[in-house]
Amino acid sequence: MTLTGARIVASRGSAWLWSAAGLLLAVLVISAVVMVADRYGRSLATADLDARAASTLPLAAAALSGEISKQQLLPAVLAVDSDVVALLAAPDAERAGRLSAKLEALADEAGASVLYLIGRDGITVAASNFDDPDSFVGSDYGFRSYFTDAMASGRGLQYALGTVSRRPGLYLSHRVDGPSGALGVVVVKVELDRVEANWRESGYTVFASDPHGIVLATSRPDWRFGLLAPLADEAAARQALQLGEAPLASVPLADDGGGLVGVGPRNARAHFAVATGPIGAAAPDWRMTVLVPADAVIASASRMAISIALAALLAIIAVAVAVQRRRLSIRRRQAALSAMNAELERRVLERTGELSQANTALAGEIEVRAAAEQRVRRLRDELAQANRLSILGQIAAGVAHEINQPVAAIRAYADNAGRLIESGRTDPARENMGAIGRMADRIGEITGTLRGFARRATSPQGPVPLDDAIDGALSLLAGRIRDSGVVLERVRVTPGPIVRASRIRLEQILVNLLQNALDAVKSEAQGRIVISVESDDLAARLRVSDNGPGVAADIAETLFMPFVTTKETGLGLGLVISSEIAREFGGALRFEPTDARGAVFLLELRLAA
Ligand code: ADP
Repeated sequence: MTLTGARIVASRGSAWLWSAAGLLLAVLVISAVVMVADRYGRSLATADLDARAASTLPLAAAALSGEISKQQLLPAVLAVDSDVVALLAAPDAERAGRLSAKLEALADEAGASVLYLIGRDGITVAASNFDDPDSFVGSDYGFRSYFTDAMASGRGLQYALGTVSRRPGLYLSHRVDGPSGALGVVVVKVELDRVEANWRESGYTVFASDPHGIVLATSRPDWRFGLLAPLADEAAARQALQLGEAPLASVPLADDGGGLVGVGPRNARAHFAVATGPIGAAAPDWRMTVLVPADAVIASASRMAISIALAALLAIIAVAVAVQRRRLSIRRRQAALSAMNAELERRVLERTGELSQANTALAGEIEVRAAAEQRVRRLRDELAQANRLSILGQIAAGVAHEINQPVAAIRAYADNAGRLIESGRTDPARENMGAIGRMADRIGEITGTLRGFARRATSPQGPVPLDDAIDGALSLLAGRIRDSGVVLERVRVTPGPIVRASRIRLEQILVNLLQNALDAVKSEAQGRIVISVESDDLAARLRVSDNGPGVAADIAETLFMPFVTTKETGLGLGLVISSEIAREFGGALRFEPTDARGAVFLLELRLAA
């Protein structure tokens, strides 16, 4: 197995461990929640049941004590009945029979089971059941506590099993007093069926118990005479209840803790909330107990609490999962965002890097370009200068001739003036002096033009009368033109156009064009050069035409390229430089093909504003 393989297996193992731990934790949490909810539900239900039991207790007690109070009236009233007192004072069989009949009617009326009268000696003298086979008449009840209690204190109350009927009932007694002391006791035996039925209807288990802890009246007949606690004095209890030898079973009530009592065997035990308290004045020794069935209520409360708790747990888990998911997705989005950001920054950096490289390269190129342009400019200046010097060289002879003439004329005028002055003719002499001055001016003009032409620095551009420039160029070439015998024609317009140029340079162009024309017509018998000017609103056009051989087709294409020449001593720079200067002025120099013999060069110039 490779190292990575081992790692994967290890991580799978730990994942399994993690999920097992998670499962265990979930089971623990769920069990804890179920347990707590169950406890809570149970305690709520128990409290509710206790409250129900507590609130039922006084009602159940009232039902019993009401019955007792009601039934107690009967013996109390009979105790003062004259018939009763009379019978007890003087027992008489007939009287007893009448009273028994009366008691029978009364008992029927009052819902009492038996109503009877006992003499001072404990022997029953009259009874409502006198004509029943188990009549009480003649029976001795002197041992009964309801008799002894009544004889002693005036009243008696005893719950007991009927000795003859074997039916349980409540014996309520009242002493009958005569003028000379107690005469006997009136007793009513009440069976508490109605009260017990009433209790049963409540759906709860209700019973009354005596001070021995023996159940008396009860909604559960099987618990009657059952023991709530072990008896301290069984004989006394048996005696009080007239139970005879009947067995005393325990009531199967067990305190199971948690405020509930259990009923029944351990494996099938029903649970009850319990409330217990006194019954009241009617039976001061008795206690009431109310048992409210708890199991169904508690189970449903516990189920409810568990369901709610589980639902809440589920909701909490759902919310937690949702929150966690949201947090995760936010974190994921943030991560994506910062990755995008980083990528963006990286690209920007890359791009700016490229751009700054390109920029540097561009700056380098610009520098190289600028340097090259400067070199070109310098070269062009040098070429223009070379062209000018070459022109000067070519026209030097002409210029010398041009100057010689006025110098010779000055000589002649000066001689003449001298003679005129000697002869005293001052006026013509002054005229001659004037002529001399004009000649000197002419010479000065020529040398000035030459100096200006030769000067390297160029004069700035400005408005230049085109005719003046033509005059200047012609004056530079005057000697040569004259010597060549060429016919020079000028076609003018008036007013002459003022163009945008530098005077010296414009003259340089014109000298170049005129020299080429002079060269071209050199071998013509009748050489002829025409300088024509025309202009419109925007531009002036100057044409220099000659009737020479014209431009050969093979060099027409390359006329404006440097060092293209057909002349032995030519430099091939004149046209190049001239067209360059024209372009500087915002104009152009072109070769204009023509059908006529010879060549035409067109110089186009912008008018000065
Ligand atoms: P260069 O005069 O030194 O030769 P240019 O540039 O002035 O230099 O002229 C270039 C060439 O153009 C000349 O050698 C000539 O062949 C031709 N050329 C210029 N002007 C004319 C013209 N008027 N007639 C015929 N050919 C001309």
